[in-house]
Amino acid sequence: MEYRIDCPCGQHMMVREGAAGMTFTCTCGKPINVPTRSHLRSIAGLPTNDISPDRIIPYFLATGQLPTSNACSFCGNETSSIRYAHVECIDPKRTKVDGAILLVNILKGIIVIVAWITMVVFSPVWFLNFRRDEGVQSYPTKPIFDLPFPVCDLCQPALKDEEYIKRCLCKEMEYRRLLEQFPASKITLVT
Ligand SMILES: [Zn+2]
Ligand SMILES: [Zn+2]
Repeated sequence: MEYRIDCPCGQHMMVREGAAGMTFTCTCGKPINVPTRSHLRSIAGLPTNDISPDRIIPYFLATGQLPTSNACSFCGNETSSIRYAHVECIDPKRTKVDGAILLVNILKGIIVIVAWITMVVFSPVWFLNFRRDEGVQSYPTKPIFDLPFPVCDLCQPALKDEEYIKRCLCKEMEYRRLLEQFPASKITLVT
């Protein structure tokens, strides 16, 4: 559904829920701030409970509401080019161990033992450094998304680095919420 946002100049614009929290420029030149989603919903008399981004994004994607802007996520110029970022949401708090992960861990264990022996034999310094890296482990869990975002042809070569793709995605409010919820997510560009 669309929501009406009024500008003090008397004009108005219609926005979708996916545009919540964003700022647009009215034809009069004044900035128009779109309220948060729960605010939009409360104005329209709908339930205001905030839905987590991993549950609302599939709905927005299915209904064609994302991306909400056609401005290049990199330089801001208008563009019709869309690229997709493959995002595997990784929740570091989740420690569910299934069969495949168990097998991977057994293999990791073997590698660690072999590595330890190698390091003990070759360098006690290596050995200390290796131990410091232990204990930080995350398990891949769903959801996985292919998120469309606008990026102009000139800026596309800059998207080699995961950090740049992430910065582009964060221009979209729902993507930013998703990456805040899953900060360890793996992001790659769909080619
Ligand atoms: Zn205006
Ligand atoms: Zn650009």
